Amino acid sequence: MINKSYLNQIALVTGAGRGIGRAVATALSSTGRYVYINYKSNVDAANQTLEMIKGQGTPEIEQGRGETIQFDVADKEQSEAAIKYIIQKHGKIDILVNNAGIKDDKLMVMMKQDSWESVINTNLTGFYNITRLAVKNMIKNQFGRVINIASTSGQIGVAGQVNYSASKAGLIGATKALAKEVASRNITVNAVAPGFIKTDMIETLAIDDIIKSIPAKRVGKPEDVAAAVIFFSSDEASYITGQVLGVNGGIY
Ligand code: NAP
Repeated sequence: MINKSYLNQIALVTGAGRGIGRAVATALSSTGRYVYINYKSNVDAANQTLEMIKGQGTPEIEQGRGETIQFDVADKEQSEAAIKYIIQKHGKIDILVNNAGIKDDKLMVMMKQDSWESVINTNLTGFYNITRLAVKNMIKNQFGRVINIASTSGQIGVAGQVNYSASKAGLIGATKALAKEVASRNITVNAVAPGFIKTDMIETLAIDDIIKSIPAKRVGKPEDVAAAVIFFSSDEASYITGQVLGVNGGIY
């Protein structure tokens, strides 16, 4: 349900230029939120997300509102500077969606240290780099919604993804622990764990074979994940925290 107070809420979605992040950013905007669209290098894709946002209004506002913001979530200084910039401008961040993520699949015995570190640094340390300052501000404002995009891979473990499964399992643990730290401050922290979702990330996989193993017999859409994020961001979900919601067509 759209609530008029959403018009005053500021959201940051990391990795929102493409894929799931773009669907989340446009969905948040369609509920009236002002949305920061983070990206790492693909400025054209981020601008396209912004155009999509501007092209959709709500009954209260003619145009969706937002802006792009470039930074690498794996870089602590860049991440903290971005959070400070948003807080300086608006005084707050109400909704943080930690979505930026990468994979670099290899069997463990073949995995070089840089594959391990790049995935952990982006998917897990990225969460730390952004969330620490954002949550500090949410505590001050006595309101916040943190939504982390995990993965089925972090729940069940996937061969060839030791680095990725570890990063996403770590994110789930961090979600549950942080939820307990800040629940009394009117801040919820939840995770969405997508299965196979049609984005650039799974482009190189053998989709036809994968579909056979999915009970729903299809891969998911980015919008399927966005719907779960919108739920966790809503006023109706204020008593739900520390939870992991699978969006996976029954594969778990
Ligand atoms: P995607 O299509 O590859 O898009 C990734 C997005 O993340 C891009 O916008 C990219 O920015 C951004 N990004 C990557 N590294 C970044 C960094 N260091 N700093 C800032 N932004 C960065 O991926 P996706 O499939 O939408 O995945 C989104 C999230 O869902 C990830 O956390 C992923 O692990 C998770 N997930 C995906 C699936 C799936 O099947 N697709 C399943 C489970 C979980 P640029 O455009 O600038 O490169």
